[in-house]
Amino acid sequence: MKKGDFDAVVVGSGPNGLAAAILLQQNGLSVLLIEGKEEIGGGLRSAELTLPGFTHDICSAIHPLAAASPFFNTLPLHQHGLAYTYPDIDAAHPFDNGKAAIVKRSINETADVLGTDKDAYLNLLHPLVNQWPELLPDILAPLHFPKHPVAMAGFGLNAFKPVTHITKRFKTEEAKGLFAGMAAHTMLPLSNMATSAIALALMASSHTKGWPIPKGGSINIAKALASYFTSIGGQIETGLYIKSLDQLPSAKAVLFDVTPKQLLQIAGHKFSNIYKWQLARYRYGMGVFKIDWALDAPIPFKAEACRSAGTVHIGNTLQEIATSEQQTWQGKLSEKPFVLLAQQSIFDPTRAPAGKHTAWAYCHVPNGSVADRTLAIEDQIERFAPGFRETILAKHTFNTVEMEDYNPNYIGGDINGGVFDIGQLFTRPVLRRSPYTTSAKGLYICSSSTPPGGGVHGMCGYHAAKRALKDVFGMKLAYLSSVYV
Ligand SMILES: Cc1cc2nc3c(=O)[nH]c(=O)nc-3n(C[C@H](O)[C@H](O)[C@H](O)COP(=O)(O)OP(=O)(O)OC[C@H]3O[C@@H](n4cnc5c(N)ncnc54)[C@H](O)[C@@H]3O)c2cc1C
Repeated sequence: MKKGDFDAVVVGSGPNGLAAAILLQQNGLSVLLIEGKEEIGGGLRSAELTLPGFTHDICSAIHPLAAASPFFNTLPLHQHGLAYTYPDIDAAHPFDNGKAAIVKRSINETADVLGTDKDAYLNLLHPLVNQWPELLPDILAPLHFPKHPVAMAGFGLNAFKPVTHITKRFKTEEAKGLFAGMAAHTMLPLSNMATSAIALALMASSHTKGWPIPKGGSINIAKALASYFTSIGGQIETGLYIKSLDQLPSAKAVLFDVTPKQLLQIAGHKFSNIYKWQLARYRYGMGVFKIDWALDAPIPFKAEACRSAGTVHIGNTLQEIATSEQQTWQGKLSEKPFVLLAQQSIFDPTRAPAGKHTAWAYCHVPNGSVADRTLAIEDQIERFAPGFRETILAKHTFNTVEMEDYNPNYIGGDINGGVFDIGQLFTRPVLRRSPYTTSAKGLYICSSSTPPGGGVHGMCGYHAAKRALKDVFGMKLAYLSSVYV
């Protein structure tokens, strides 16, 4: 353990911990960032999980939110080794009829593929895309009076609708399925309120900044953040899991990049009874079963568009995806799970030896499930890419228990830091004036269990650090509005 006093300590080096540590250090504080594992990064690590020479993203793979992050965009990350590669098509969605819907940078080319739903798609997305740069800082933030209330109201009108409602404006199975695949990232039944929000956000991100893949692996986002942090004087200590506050050096503020369950274990004795009760009621959601493959060739998708897409959503129709998510939510294993697949090596040759490839995929499973979903996931891929199994050289899997073992923030395999439904969208982890504060002075929570929630954007960490700067150090930072570069 580093000796001496610090102004602030951040526990956990996921994108939110890194963002918090950076903002505090940038404001003249002395900051120590502590990570339990030997390597920094949290959900941003990459490793040779299968065979030598094949680099796999252990958790996050595709980064629309990192590319759009109002805070990350203020940092000189490219000078610290971060370079993105951009797929030709951000996401493709194949159907049993052989067609595939796509989402790519050009909104018109995206809409063209939807045939009779072209105008419906443009009517839904165009206004949002035009206002996206102004809207994003308001969306990736805790509940507040927005800087752009009219634009925000326009977004909210559609965002709060369930997918099953908003897709009624489309006539084709392709447009409905495409929207459902985007929305299924919420890990909620598609009939839930506000499930359309994430679909709209992901589509608008594609049409503005794209869905980039970090060259060399997702770890390079974490490395660039850490390199910038140390370049401005920040200190990092790895290999130290914090189980008690007694392990920490003295500091005026401590920010935890952990979820409520862990926060209770570490600092519960410092909290009021009501705050402890609130944290204990926090709900975790579905888990994931994840597979990484080393492949002898690219995945032989029948639909051409899927071969040049960074992400492929495999789930066929709205009906099929809705059934799969509903069953999982009810604690059952879906026979035909919705599969999220990424093929990084097509766009980043450093990921695999020449001529070989990697693929990354997961499906949703009930929280805590130890079921092996390899067969079900590979069956789904084979359905749209016959011959896929023959390309497999090696594979590596994580069930939900292994996922939590790998990263204690993935409680029961929940990769979003808690259920992302309307009840926890703005009030995660508990209903408070500032969700980042705890009932104990100087202790904060900054993980994806706070607004705006899961994904690699660092904005939970940014807002938590901003709050600590105000409360503890008397610094009031300006609104982050003009930094969407
Ligand atoms: C399979 C999978 C796929 C994903 N795909 C994507 C994607 O494509 N795009 C995307 O944007 N997001 C994706 N995500 C989600 C994304 O990774 C997370 O939302 C994000 O990493 C959350 O960041 P965080 O900083 O809140 O926490 P984390 O990234 O989970 O980091 C928390 C860190 O804190 C450390 N820690 C925890 N407890 C302690 C302790 N007591 N003491 C010391 N250290 C501690 C952990 O070791 C970890 O390093 C994916 C996640 C998974 C698992």
